Amino acid sequence: MSENKEHVKCLIIGSGPAGYTAAIYAARADLKPVLYQGLQPGGQLTETTEVDNFPGYPEGINGPQMMIDLQKQAERFDTDVRTGWVTRVDFTGPVHEVEIDNGKHIITADSVIIATGASAKWLGLESELRLRDAGGGVSACAVCDGFFYRGQDVAIVGAGDTAAEEASYLAKLCNKVYMLVRRDEMRASKAMQTRVMNMENIEILFNHETVEVLGEHGVEGAKVKNTATGEERELKITGFFVAIGHKPNTDVFKPWLDLDGQGYIKNVPGTAKTNVEGVFVAGDAADHVYRQAVTAAGTGCMAALDAERYLANKGIH
Ligand code: NDP
Repeated sequence: MSENKEHVKCLIIGSGPAGYTAAIYAARADLKPVLYQGLQPGGQLTETTEVDNFPGYPEGINGPQMMIDLQKQAERFDTDVRTGWVTRVDFTGPVHEVEIDNGKHIITADSVIIATGASAKWLGLESELRLRDAGGGVSACAVCDGFFYRGQDVAIVGAGDTAAEEASYLAKLCNKVYMLVRRDEMRASKAMQTRVMNMENIEILFNHETVEVLGEHGVEGAKVKNTATGEERELKITGFFVAIGHKPNTDVFKPWLDLDGQGYIKNVPGTAKTNVEGVFVAGDAADHVYRQAVTAAGTGCMAALDAERYLANKGIH
């Protein structure tokens, strides 16, 4: 094999809880996994601060630290963790070919576990991204971070099912929730709209867009604009949630795998199998519903067990 070409039994793409959990199981099953971290080593959890809902951490854990621990755990069993970005795949044959960093490296693999996750969409405002990166009260996950805003006033942007669900979740914890809807109607299902409208502490601001998130080191407010009247006002809030959708990181697999309308990889229900033999999926790349670290870890385990059984049936040891 040429210098940049290498064959592995199990290749894992992605380094969130799904990828690392798959690696822990695959390594312990002696599959000698190679894991490529992708552009955001550690995945979405590196964008959050405290993780309080992952079982086993009674005092909670900081998201980036948790990912370092997961990586160490995968490496303890000799997972080969590498930096690199998958730029092309070829899933035609029984052996799958994966190109890293535009051809710098070519991996052929008997089994591939895709754990590339999804990325939250952001508004793109300078103030929003700065406060998000500083861990200063901007979040794309109410279930993860809502708890820190108990009794406080917060805002959430979006008008789909996720925004409606997260607004109701926040309303149970927070004093007041402003829901910023950019049009004069919501996209969410009728049932979800009714639920939101029936909660007394949710105020829906239709035709409103965010001009700026206010605050130096933490959120102190949001400047919003009524696009129907042009009027601007400031909301006094300490938390700013964005729920305008996620994009699964699956573009590179599109020519080969069955994806749903939003680009999530379709798995065979109850398994981590995809439509291509020997290619498995775990975590948010296939899940637009639960999207939790613990569910991603669970499906990472499933993918590794499915891969192990697949290889055993093929007589690959
Ligand atoms: P959606 O794409 O359905 O909704 C995104 C929302 O964000 C839309 O209301 C959109 O506004 C708004 N938005 C997008 N960009 C901006 C922006 N720049 N500024 C302000 N608002 C913006 O994403 P969801 O995450 O809500 O849902 C994804 C899928 O998952 C859907 O199919 C949904 O039904 C499903 N889902 C189902 C649940 C359930 O059944 N319990 C729970 C959660 C999700 P606009 O409407 O104007 O385009």
